[in-house]
Parts: sequence; structure tokens; C-alpha cells
Amino acid sequence: MTGVDALGGQAVAATATTLTPHWIAGVPVESGSTLEIFDPARGTVIREVGLADPGLVDQAVAAAKDAFPEWSALPVTKRVDHLRRLSAAVWESRDELLTLVGEEHGKVRSDADGELARAMEVLDFACSAPVLLKGEFSDQVARGVDVHSMRMPLGVTAGITPFNFPVMVPLWMFPIALAAGNTFVLKPSERDPTAPTRLAQIATEAGLPDGVLNVVHGDKVAVDAICDHPDIASVSFVGSTPVAQAVYMRGTAVGKRVQALGGAKNHMVVLPDADLDFAADAATSAGYGSTGQRCMAVATVVAVGEIGDRLVESIGKRIEEIKVGPAGDDRAEMGPLATAAARDRSLSAIDAAESAGATVVADGRSHEVPECEEGFFVGPTLVDAVTTDMSVYREEIFGPVLSVLRVETLDEAISLINDNPYGNGAAIFTSSGAAARRFEREATAGMIGVNVPIPVPVSFHSFGGWKASLFGDRHLYGREGFEFFTRNKVITSRWPEQEAAKVSLSFPGS
Ligand code: NAD
Repeated sequence: MTGVDALGGQAVAATATTLTPHWIAGVPVESGSTLEIFDPARGTVIREVGLADPGLVDQAVAAAKDAFPEWSALPVTKRVDHLRRLSAAVWESRDELLTLVGEEHGKVRSDADGELARAMEVLDFACSAPVLLKGEFSDQVARGVDVHSMRMPLGVTAGITPFNFPVMVPLWMFPIALAAGNTFVLKPSERDPTAPTRLAQIATEAGLPDGVLNVVHGDKVAVDAICDHPDIASVSFVGSTPVAQAVYMRGTAVGKRVQALGGAKNHMVVLPDADLDFAADAATSAGYGSTGQRCMAVATVVAVGEIGDRLVESIGKRIEEIKVGPAGDDRAEMGPLATAAARDRSLSAIDAAESAGATVVADGRSHEVPECEEGFFVGPTLVDAVTTDMSVYREEIFGPVLSVLRVETLDEAISLINDNPYGNGAAIFTSSGAAARRFEREATAGMIGVNVPIPVPVSFHSFGGWKASLFGDRHLYGREGFEFFTRNKVITSRWPEQEAAKVSLSFPGS
């Protein structure tokens, strides 16, 4: 098989010795220890990635700190020019990036394509910085006194990202950070690190000044070094809930601004008055798209009343049509899981559900893909009659395992969602405006879909969950993204004319 050497951008024979380097101050940097990167469709090692120790993290932070004075002093319109050039260059490298995502993550081409398209929307949105960074002005708040405010960059900012969107989640973070005048250190997932490294290399090739965007690879050691580093002002994190909480606590303990987005268990409620085919299409797409490895995947269908049996039957029929295969197969609609551990987690979840009394309607446990016998595949699986005490419901499986719970009323469905510790997304399928309105007001999740199963907000809104799906108080991108990556400064000014100044110790008023 072939791959793309992140150093040269050239197609090379992908071997275990092809190394994905760190990217610091505009050049590739190697480090002592390395980790193997797998092709999840075949279970073979295709590359290695360098792992950063605290010294290497420090090197990246120093580069970002050096670049900050000049970058933050550039007029915002000039910073946006750099982002526009980056946007054009990323589109030109689209095929190469999609190939890298397919090779290391395993997602099929159409899915990787969608990921890149949504990512680019945020890069384009970041170009609205001149409008979104505008301050406020109040004339004559006291005699001869005016007040204005400015949104100032934080300094060196950092992002730690998950494996499931190796291009999109970094692009949810650094374009906004950079547009706001910060410099950035990215620590992508060590499981599929080459596409995000290539992004930084493309940025350098497109003329972004050295040190403005740096990439370090690694595991907990690198993440802890980022959280502890005194010269990093903020950390944006996306990943599983336990790590999100740990990063939030570690970063805020030393005074950093932290937004840490965690895991999810998204519910899709289907009322008896919903359009059955429309709901079944949506549940199948959102349950098995990206092999269930989306933070906004539907993991649980909540069937209300008599629609349950028909819905399960309709989803089951659609599952039979899903084509499972490797990323390079153009006919494939669903790829493998990203790691052997993720495959085993899905398999155990199905076993446990069956043992606990659930009905396995479609069983992906022994799904075989020709010429990919060693790959991390699990076929689309549908489990009915799931109850809230089963581990398949309680735990985040992050695989192609869709559970169906049966309830009698909308009240019960909303209670289920509100009792769940996660609160990323929730959706309702109905033809009743009143039911939908009630749902959108009462369900405790940060992103709600009404007849939309994966309500990932567009770039000019913002992305973030509630409860155990987000630690911190600012969502990613949108206006909230600019608020996170800037701090407000308020200036009160007076330009006295000729009257004599006088001393007054009373509290200043207008
Ligand atoms: P993960 O938590 O294992 O890893 C995320 C990042 O944290 C990676 O960069 C990884 O290197 C680092 N990391 C892993 N273990 C660590 C540890 N013990 N200490 C410090 N750092 C550590 O998550 P993942 O498996 O890469 O991604 C899947 C998870 O991310 C799922 O739980 C999914 O729901 C979640 N996710 C959430 C969102 C969201 O917007 N809420 C979006 C995408 C993914």
C-alpha cells in the first residue's frame, strides 16, 4: 500500500519506518521514542509517530511564545489573509488529506470528505474575525469620559484532539485561536496523527510564519506537560469524559482557561406520529455513520409507544444494505473501528447486552470483510429491548452498536435523557410542533435536533454539550470560540480640556 510522507508530501511506500514527526517552528522534528500507527482495515503497522517528552513540549511552546508578539501585532485583516491562503492550500491538498485519514482512521472516503467539508466551514468562519473581534464604545459615560473595550489574544494556546476527527477537530480550534491573535500548539491523537501534521506543514508552505502553529505528538506525558506549562494560557480539549475532566482539573488548577469536551451517549426519540421511513433512515445513518465513532452518533433510539416494532424492523432492513469495507473501497459505506481495543469493546458490549436479556436483532460480531481478515471490523449491530441498567446503555461504546429502548410517553423519554450523565446531543422525530418545542426546551443536552439526528451546529453557531460532555463554560467555534480565545479589556479615558483638576476622594460617579 502507499501512503504520504508527512515530511515531503510525496507518495511513498508506507512502511513501519515511515515516521510522522512533530512540527515545530515550521520544520519537522524527530524525538527518541515512537509509537506504531495501524491500518485499522488490515491490522498492520503502516507508520510510526514520535512521542514528545516535556522537553519537546517546551520547545514547541517556546516557538509559539517567540512567534506571538509579531503575530498578535499583525492587523487582524492580515491574519485573516493567512487563513484564506491556508484554506486554498488545504483544498488543493484535499485528496492527500483524505487518503491519510482513510489510512490511519479507517473511515470511508465519503465520510472523510464530509469531515473535511465541515472543518473548512470553521476555517472560513474564522475569517469573520474582523467583525467578531470588534469592541464596544460608550460615549460620555461621565462628563468628558468615554469607555471602550477590546478583545485581546491570550498568548500561547493549546489544543488536544481525539482520533475520531483527525482533521475537523483541530480545525475547530486553531483557526479561531490564530484569527484572534494567539499562537497555537496542537497535540493530536497519537492514533491518526499524520493528517493533522500535514495540515501544519501545509500552513507553513502557504506562508504562515514559523512558530504560529506547532504540532507535538504524544500521550499522557505530553498532555500533562501541556496542562502544567506556565507559558500556555489556555487548553482546548476534545476526547473521552475521564480525560476531559482530568485535563480540566489539571489545567484550571494552575490558572489556565480550559474548555474540555467529553464523551457522549446521544438519544434519538421517535414518537408514534413520526414519519417511519424518515426516522429509520436517520437512525441508521446516525447510528452507523463513521462506524458509530462520532461524538454526535446516535447510540440509543428511544421508541415511544406503538411505533417500536415497526421502527426496529425498518432499521433492521436498512442494516442489511450497509456495505462494510476498507477506506480505499469506493463502494464501502462503513469502515472498521480505529483500534483492536475499540473492536473488542463493541464485541463485549454486544455479548453483555445479550447476556442481560436484550435481543440482538442484527448481529455484527462475526462480520467478515474479504482480504481484511485481520482488520478491526464489527458489522452494524442492532440491540432491542435494552434497559437502563444494562452496560450497553450506561457505557459509551463508540462503535456500530445501536440500542433501542421502549417507553410509553414523551415524559418518560425526556426523563431518560435528563437522567443520563452525558448531554452532548439529543434528537426528536415527530410531526407535532408542540412535542418538538417541549423537547427542545426540556431535554438537558447542549445540541438538539428536531427531525435531525446529528445536530452538529454550523460554524457560525457553536459546538458543545452539557453535563459530563463538557467541562468549562465556553463551546467550540462560533461567537463562543472567539470569546474563549480572547480576554476583554475595558478602557476608561478622559482628555481634560482647560478646567482645573481638583482632588476628590468621593466614589466617582457620572
Ligand atoms: P481519548 O480521551 O482517549 O483521547 C483524546 C486525547 O487525549 C488524545 O489526544 C489522547 O492522546 C489524549 N489522552 C488519552 N488518554 C489520556 C490520559 N490518560 N491522560 C491525558 N491525555 C490522554 O479520546 P479518543 O478515544 O481519542 O476519542 C474518542 C472520545 O472522544 C469519545 O469519548 C468521544 O465521545 C469523544 N469525543 C467528543 C467530542 C465532543 O465534541 N464532545 C468530539 C469528538 C470525540
